[in-house]
Amino acid sequence: MTDLPSTLIDKFQRRVDYVRLSVTDRCDFRCVYCMAEEMTFIPKPDVLTLEELYQVSLAFTELGVSKIRLTGGEPLIRNNVMSLIEKMGQLQGLDELVITTNGSQLQRLAAPLLEAGVKRLNISLDTLQPRKFRSLTRHGNLDQVIAGIDAAIAAGFKRTKLNAVILKGRNEDEALDLVNFARDREIDLSFIEEMPLGLIDDHDRALSFCSSDELRSKIETQHSLTALGDPSGNAGPTRYFSMTDSKSRVGFISPHSNNFCHLCNRVRVTVEGRLLLCLGNEHSVDLRHILRSSDYSLYKLKRAIVDAMDIKPEKHIFDNSGKTEILRFMNMTGG
Ligand code: SAM
Ligand code: SF4
Repeated sequence: MTDLPSTLIDKFQRRVDYVRLSVTDRCDFRCVYCMAEEMTFIPKPDVLTLEELYQVSLAFTELGVSKIRLTGGEPLIRNNVMSLIEKMGQLQGLDELVITTNGSQLQRLAAPLLEAGVKRLNISLDTLQPRKFRSLTRHGNLDQVIAGIDAAIAAGFKRTKLNAVILKGRNEDEALDLVNFARDREIDLSFIEEMPLGLIDDHDRALSFCSSDELRSKIETQHSLTALGDPSGNAGPTRYFSMTDSKSRVGFISPHSNNFCHLCNRVRVTVEGRLLLCLGNEHSVDLRHILRSSDYSLYKLKRAIVDAMDIKPEKHIFDNSGKTEILRFMNMTGG
């Protein structure tokens, strides 16, 4: 049928060409800002199958989406995820298949991921101190993650980026060490302000908030930072800086202090197949219902996605009071 557009445009004339697709809500870590210690995960039958995830990817790429980020939970612990990634790597028009991972599986998977067509990796790393790493992730092993980062570099991944969530009183003292770790490896690093997603039990978010401006001043005591325009045209909420004596870039993701909504080009799909039009709002459309209906067709899925563009909100609603406004945990939506 021909009544579908070839690109997705919302009612504020923003072109949506980037999808973050969560392939699992489960994880081998329990980071304190992301999950509660005891989590109830989505029952398996409610989780999209690998084939359903593929159909969603196909629908979006046929609607002009050129970038898909696989996330979670930890995307690389989903059973048989490589079979999905290999198929997605062949999708026409998908210029950038990228992944956000905690790095725990990269020693094993970095080379196969590159081979399957994954273009770039974002790897989360909040601290370089083994005990602190264990306390922030509750289950993670720092050596394994660093070996995973080095495996990605050795496999040939370019422009790998580390993501660090900084919490006051926990790891704010490590900003410079993390920058120097990235510089040693000639990779990029972004600092992320904690977002009020999900009711967590570990700390009071109003007290742990650490602003990007504060971190930037700290880094500038050692490295001079020069603001970059966005070379890719796709940095979204990240503001990047270069350093004269290094190839590494330092980014700051500041959902609180920076209103980037007018540039928003992205939507998210949860592992239950809910299309979320905005990370900071609850507007969503149930794609699983369509995928599982007896008269399913790719056309119907695409129609629902096109129609959903009309409810993409103009702005998100976070503030930095630490109040949880969105009850979804980050592992439900993916970062
Ligand atoms: N498990 C993978 C990982 O950790 O990279 C992918 C999923 S994780 C939800 C994606 C990103 O979201 C990570 O970089 C993580 O640090 C970040 N994140 C999780 N909870 C957050 C929160 N409440 N505020 C800000 N960033 C958060
Ligand atoms: Fe898992 Fe990533 Fe959430 Fe940490 S941030 S608990 S690694 S999903």
